[in-house]
Amino acid sequence: MTMQKYDIEKLRDLPIEGVAERLGLQVSRHKCLCPFHDDHHASMSFKVSKNTYRCFVCGESGGPIDLVMKYLRKNFLDATKWLADENNIIMTEYKPHPSDLTPQPSFNAERFEKYFEHPWLNDEARRFLFDERRLDARVVCWCRLTSWRDRQGVPWLQIPYYNKEGHLVGVQNRNLVRGALPRFRFPQGSQCGIYNLPVLNMLRPGEDLYITEGCSDCWAMLSAGHKAIAIPSATLLTKEVRGKMEEVRDKLSISFHMYPDRDAPGERLFLQLREVLPSLVHHQLPPGCKDFGDYYKGKQ
Ligand SMILES: [Zn+2]
Repeated sequence: MTMQKYDIEKLRDLPIEGVAERLGLQVSRHKCLCPFHDDHHASMSFKVSKNTYRCFVCGESGGPIDLVMKYLRKNFLDATKWLADENNIIMTEYKPHPSDLTPQPSFNAERFEKYFEHPWLNDEARRFLFDERRLDARVVCWCRLTSWRDRQGVPWLQIPYYNKEGHLVGVQNRNLVRGALPRFRFPQGSQCGIYNLPVLNMLRPGEDLYITEGCSDCWAMLSAGHKAIAIPSATLLTKEVRGKMEEVRDKLSISFHMYPDRDAPGERLFLQLREVLPSLVHHQLPPGCKDFGDYYKGKQ
């Protein structure tokens, strides 16, 4: 399945300033420092009405997809995938005019809770979790992973997000068709910031907590016998996640560990996280393993 023209149009309509902020650019009054030349004067400006950016010094210009392609050095397809994955965060974090903000729709936990009471895994979900990822069945059970099929027959893995108190605060759906887009879907109002927060209640002082990028690495970490939480797999830490991690740091005297993905974004995320958690321990994945999930399944 490839990305439909319609989906690409939707990505082109993502607010350009929201995309820029998600990339880490500091936008103020429709301007920011140009990331494409050594800029000290906010030469890049955004035209919200046309959803474009332009630097009047180096001449770089374009729309949301161009910005992602150039800034993250991705090709068109990878840039659209990145935007599709980030779409939810961009739409919830981007708040252009605080004065006329319409209230965010809240998450309807009651509607979704019942799906996780009796989790059920279809063949595709079992294949993904047990054959492909080699996860421990107890972990899948603890995480209450379940599955469903949409009207087009597409199989989805349904991942519940609970807060520390055990209340359902969001749901992430993962497309189980390999390579299909969109890869993730979030019901309205879902708060999918930090994954597996209930595990914090099980930590004793001095114990190790592993932080992974994304929930599939978290399941691998749990299957390997570690206590773990996941932060969204993304280029940057969101303000919300940063704040939550500060809270965890201040409330619990535990030590923090991470196996960053073996690539530049993985290392960048580690460094960002270490600003919040100065004692964060860096663990190196062996060569040939791109992330912890990869490493874990190789050992099974
Ligand atoms: Zn420039």
